[in-house]
Amino acid sequence: MVAQVIDGKAFAAKVRAQVADQVAKLKEENGITPGLAVVLVGEDPASQVYVRSKGKMTVEVGMNSYEHKLDVDTSEEDLLALIDKLNNDPAVHGILVQLPLPKHLNEDLVINSIDPSKDVDGFHISNVGLLGTGQKSMVPCTPLGCLMMLRDHHGSLSGMDAVVIGRSNIVGKPMAQLLLGDSCTVTIAHSRTKDLPDVVRRADIVVAAVGRPEMVPGDWIKEGATVIDVGINRIERDGKNKLVGDVDYASAAERAGAITPVPGGVGPMTIACLLANTLTACCRANSLPEPEGLTA
Ligand code: NDP
Repeated sequence: MVAQVIDGKAFAAKVRAQVADQVAKLKEENGITPGLAVVLVGEDPASQVYVRSKGKMTVEVGMNSYEHKLDVDTSEEDLLALIDKLNNDPAVHGILVQLPLPKHLNEDLVINSIDPSKDVDGFHISNVGLLGTGQKSMVPCTPLGCLMMLRDHHGSLSGMDAVVIGRSNIVGKPMAQLLLGDSCTVTIAHSRTKDLPDVVRRADIVVAAVGRPEMVPGDWIKEGATVIDVGINRIERDGKNKLVGDVDYASAAERAGAITPVPGGVGPMTIACLLANTLTACCRANSLPEPEGLTA
């Protein structure tokens, strides 16, 4: 079997176009422009690239982008004061604090100081609890993007066996909750899982979110399974820098029914879902109907 490639880049462009349409409608019919505030503390080069590209795409879909760049030695007090200001600013519908934060800042405290209804990353403890209890919440962007691609490919996921490799708070756990919400039978695997190959071989859906280059070989994949590769790993091969996922793409593509590539799979969906979440937050803040197909 040669797997169908799930083109995350094209899917993300479709999601962004849908968001842009809805934003234009909101402006025309309600005079409202959704606004996303991104807070970056310090000068981590990768974070700077992410923040720049988030800002650019926010503007491209017609939303307002507010960037707050703070010095690396910004105090917790000053950062919390900024978040408080953004929480109370009616022009700001979404707030994202770029992680990781410098070591002297308490990430949990900072994230939990964001108004949960503006927490477009879905990391606030209230949103984690709402997702876990199957209530309306802000859903973390990466797992939301994976869910959208799976729903698009399969229609219903009901009754499928899903394995999520990785149990982080930002990917693995919310991904498992979302799959459970769509009535999959879910296994969460991690570094202490016994006989991981065997666990993965049972799965109709494999979501790999580990952070280990090409760790999942093709012979772990059940014939015809759908493979979603969240991993982004920078490696050097043949003297060149390369991005690879957590799955060995070449061998997995020979057995899977469908697979996301790296790059061009989950990555582009993450920013598209951030924009979708900002639109959703704006609609909720204004008691307007939520955009269809852009939430969990
Ligand atoms: P974390 O490091 O927070 O979590 C990794 C998880 O993998 C842990 O639960 C860990 O288990 C598990 N793990 C580690 N080694 C093994 C192993 N040998 N076998 C089974 N499980 C293992 O990573 P994140 O969840 O933040 O990210 C995962 C990957 O996804 C990274 O490559 C990251 O760059 C990428 N990513 C991509 C995004 C995108 O937009 N495409 C967004 C976010 C992340 P344990 O808990 O036992 O230690």
